[in-house]
Amino acid sequence: MRLANLRGRAVLLSRDMTRGLDLESASSGRFGPEPMQALASFEGVRAFGSGLDLSGAPEIDGRLLGPCSPRPRAVFGIGLNYRDHAAEAGLPVPKEPLVFTKFPSCLAGPTSDVIVFGDRVDWEAELVVVIGKRAENVAEPRALEYVAGYCCGQDISDRKLQFASQPPQFSLGKSRATFGPIGPAIVTLDELAKPLDLAITCDLDAERMQTSRTDQLIFGVPELIAYLSRHCELLPGDLIFTGTPGGVGSVRKRYLKPGETIRTEIEGVGTLVNRCVAPA
Ligand code: ZN
Repeated sequence: MRLANLRGRAVLLSRDMTRGLDLESASSGRFGPEPMQALASFEGVRAFGSGLDLSGAPEIDGRLLGPCSPRPRAVFGIGLNYRDHAAEAGLPVPKEPLVFTKFPSCLAGPTSDVIVFGDRVDWEAELVVVIGKRAENVAEPRALEYVAGYCCGQDISDRKLQFASQPPQFSLGKSRATFGPIGPAIVTLDELAKPLDLAITCDLDAERMQTSRTDQLIFGVPELIAYLSRHCELLPGDLIFTGTPGGVGSVRKRYLKPGETIRTEIEGVGTLVNRCVAPA
């Protein structure tokens, strides 16, 4: 099942994400229109939505998709979670997950413009986990039961702000407006043949900047859920940006410029296409 946010309303999308049905109408009001409400009753929505054939549903305008979890209570980020990225950053591989937050106000849709504040704004393609039910002290073997699904994410980062103070404090520099494009939809894990091993890429215009697979994560999805839920409660709709592979701009000494387009793709999960724009 693919659950998205079309102009603020929960919609179920077809496999190719070009067609969709409004959740409230399709369920004759059993589920409300609100995407966060749909996430709060995700088991029911999944049971209802998984059985629907959406190949004949009306076409949707993908430009109207918003962030698939628009108002999560918490957005976690994981730093240095691919070996090649830790190596290019010149930092040791963390012994425990390096956790920061992106403030939810930075979230943006799958085709939203990204505002390039200054000359050191960077890209980070990431697999994003969407939590489907309350998780506290979850054991690793059962962790995936708490996942609503995956979406693609960009952990856009203002490196100047990120490293403005010592020691660096990641959260503000990764939380400017539009710095968290996610989507296009929450894809449930039963749609993926190998949910722990997905190709992930990031292209800037026609140039490939990042390419990896999610089986290269140092702390994988089950481990992250077990680790985070040991220390704090996770709630439906909460997001985990799982970390980015090597190939970010700060290492290339190249940053985002207005007019460029960032394309983020994860196998079976979808694609984000975000244009860079100058601040108004
Ligand atoms: Zn990141």
